[in-house]
Amino acid sequence: MICIICEEAETLPGLTSILLERDEHSLTFNNVPAQICPNCGEAYAEESVTANLLREAERMARAGEKMEVLEYEPITVLSS
Ligand SMILES: [Zn+2]
Repeated sequence: MICIICEEAETLPGLTSILLERDEHSLTFNNVPAQICPNCGEAYAEESVTANLLREAERMARAGEKMEVLEYEPITVLSS
């Protein structure tokens, strides 16, 4: 896909880090598969991946953790 931020380059598959913040909580995922723009660096994670991350963020908020850094593992089924 063409990057929607700079509209100048085709995105390429790669890995990125995604930071989710919610109130005082912050959750960082490393090695998240995404489409990345080689021009401006914008990363686009797939919807299914984003859904997983948001679910994990919910779990973290419920557990009362303020900051966490995780490696994203596509094979892991996150359940609550
Ligand atoms: Zn771009």
